[in-house]
Amino acid sequence: MKWFKPLGEASSSAPKEVHTGNGKLKQPNEEGVESPELLSLEIDENAEGTSKRKRKRRKYPEWHGLHDLKEKIEIHVGQLFANPSNFKEALQLYAVQNCFDYTYMHNDKKRVSAYCKQKCGWRVYASWKSNTKYFQIKTLEKVHNCGSHYYNKRVSIKWAANRYIDNFRDQPNWKASALKEAVRRDYNVELTLLACYRAKRMALKLLARSDDGQYKFTRAYCNALRQWNPGSSTYIQRNGIFFKRIYVSLDACKRGFLAGCRPMICVDACFMKGQHGGQLHAAIARDVNDNIFPIAYALCETESRGTWTWFLNTLLEDIGNPREHKWSFMSDRQKGLMEAIEYLMPDVEHRLCVRHLHANFKNKSYKGKAYKDALWGAA
Ligand SMILES: [Zn+2]
Repeated sequence: MKWFKPLGEASSSAPKEVHTGNGKLKQPNEEGVESPELLSLEIDENAEGTSKRKRKRRKYPEWHGLHDLKEKIEIHVGQLFANPSNFKEALQLYAVQNCFDYTYMHNDKKRVSAYCKQKCGWRVYASWKSNTKYFQIKTLEKVHNCGSHYYNKRVSIKWAANRYIDNFRDQPNWKASALKEAVRRDYNVELTLLACYRAKRMALKLLARSDDGQYKFTRAYCNALRQWNPGSSTYIQRNGIFFKRIYVSLDACKRGFLAGCRPMICVDACFMKGQHGGQLHAAIARDVNDNIFPIAYALCETESRGTWTWFLNTLLEDIGNPREHKWSFMSDRQKGLMEAIEYLMPDVEHRLCVRHLHANFKNKSYKGKAYKDALWGAA
């Protein structure tokens, strides 16, 4: 028994009769013929409906999309979708994960049907469930034995951008050729290098848009911090309507530092990856277990005397006077930072970090373990 009309007869042949299994014949409607699996489920419902017991309604699984494109996707007979485009989206992801391509036989607002491009027998048919607002898979021939397709049109640029967006978030310089390799390794599909370049551009654009969205929430974030974590300090500087700097110090971090950390504050900055750049300034301490204990952090436009002066000034206003508490400072030899410390607290003890000293040492061609040991021995 065929659940689908053969391709050549799609529009010409007369409707066929289908045995439903209870002796009656079912006339197929215009949209297609339902599979025996789906029909048998409906027959069970009817059989129960005639008895005195309350008629049970079978619950079909609903498709809610994927949170992560790495998730395994399954499709079943009876599965419900919000609309045809929702179903086609699921179908595309299913085909990509199972390494095959398909062709649409019907593709309109009422029904969607597709078969494997290699005509191996894999087919699917979906249409609106009667009297509901659900789009439902009515037929599914899952047997698919033509192997994977090396060139797969369903592996689109948009899909590649969304599937590998985390790689671009971690490494904005991740190359298009690496993306090509990853798609080949994970899905056994060949994408052209041009398509990979476009996918990379799209992924970076998506990330930039999500970054932009987050910068909009800085003021709300600071308000929420002050409301739900009283005692925390947050400051935002703007350049006209544009975001410039943000400083955050949580209440627990400040109290923890004052109550039980060594009297030493280490400061350093690192560059931010991503579309907007910037430098993350941080002040940390060491607790009694010699573990790193954060005190405050700030995001500034660059690392310079101006930004360091602003950050250290805000920090000291926040936690207290270093002379009173006899705190020492430790840092690398960044020019702006050295000047800022000299300007703000000339009489406070300031030490240089030996790890950074050694890095500079190596750059001046004093390489090797002997020099390293001698330097650490002196420290
Ligand atoms: Zn196939």
